Amino acid sequence: MLRGLHGLVRALRDHRSMRDLISSGQDTSGLSEQQELDPRQRAWLEVSPAAVEANARAIKRLLKPSCALMAVVKADGYGHGATTVARAAVQGGASQLGVATLQEGIDLRRAGLTQPVLVLGNLTQPDDLRACLHWQLMPTLSSMREALLCQNLADGSGRQFSVQLKLDTGMARLGCAWEDAPRLTKAIQQLDQLELSGIYSHLALADGGTDGDGERVTRLQQSRFEDVLNQLPRCGALRHLANSAGTLRDPALHHDLVRVGLALYGHSPSDHLGASVKLQPAMGVKARVTLIRDVAEGVGVSYGHRFVTRRPSRLAVVAIGYADGVSRALSGKIKALHQGRALPQVGAITMDQLILDATDHTDLESGDVVTLLGRDGDQEISPKLWSQLSDSIPWEVLCGFKHRLPRVTV
Ligand SMILES: *Cc1c(COP(=O)(O)O)cnc(C)c1O
Repeated sequence: MLRGLHGLVRALRDHRSMRDLISSGQDTSGLSEQQELDPRQRAWLEVSPAAVEANARAIKRLLKPSCALMAVVKADGYGHGATTVARAAVQGGASQLGVATLQEGIDLRRAGLTQPVLVLGNLTQPDDLRACLHWQLMPTLSSMREALLCQNLADGSGRQFSVQLKLDTGMARLGCAWEDAPRLTKAIQQLDQLELSGIYSHLALADGGTDGDGERVTRLQQSRFEDVLNQLPRCGALRHLANSAGTLRDPALHHDLVRVGLALYGHSPSDHLGASVKLQPAMGVKARVTLIRDVAEGVGVSYGHRFVTRRPSRLAVVAIGYADGVSRALSGKIKALHQGRALPQVGAITMDQLILDATDHTDLESGDVVTLLGRDGDQEISPKLWSQLSDSIPWEVLCGFKHRLPRVTV
């Protein structure tokens, strides 16, 4: 009774102070309007620029001295924060940067990065190509139409436009048909305002096995690519074909430059390709326990009651969910690490929270930090594992983390 009365008084007082806060626009808690929340308040990504730098260095060591490293930092640096990883990769020896979109390229320029930047996606609108010219970003050309647009834009501005030609050697995505590439290359070289800085193609199966289709298709793509190159006089254009998988697979695929994404972030594209280099994962995913509950046996947990306790249980609610990038497809399949031990996640993963079974972890407390992805003690959870559990790939897991999660560099 007395407890209830106290509660009521407190609720009324809280209500009053909230009204005061709203009506006066003033903060009574000591926080100023501008003050940022602690990024470790709820859930966050830990990003290690040192790991990215070390990975770039390790990859660079696999390359012959004349071969350049392009750090692929599209999709906000595979979720790690594009400018952070671009700077770290450049420190580690990357001399070029690759992005997917125009905006990603502009963001790098605005952040002060001056390296050559290749836009890997196709730009179709004259305004987009004009922005490329303005920001000194290299567009990827797949056809004469785009080449002529670039020539006209450059003509109007009195500047040289640095561009790259892409040819399709067996991916059926961007690029001109490989058979057309020699003719197109020569036509582009006739356009006096264009500087052809690169000729490239993209591998479709380089992460596949070293026998069977992975080998067959990769070799076919390589031979088509080299067939085109052999028909062209040697010019200043960099010739490149390899992604991470191609880079780790065979030095014969390195040509003048390699375009590396996944490996830069510390992950091998497939198990059989990782042996030649030691990579350090650059991302950890952390979240706080916000509530500990003791419940009875036979209690249904989370939406759909997919999990029902089989014993009196201790449940820990963690403040991260699928709106942060922890896929709902992982429900009931993953674990979280705390002080080097693994706690099973139970029930459906919800938009903003998930639940751990902490019955065997009586020392876990509200406010504690758990590791969803990355290292804790001598245990580690990899994006590869998540991808296997959710019919995905590590690339998708990494770039699936939303911007609601602050990136904290460590
Ligand atoms: C994304 C991308 C890469 C990098 O691929 P990884 O497998 O992450 O190394 C390289 N080239 C092109 C054209 C790409 O789109």
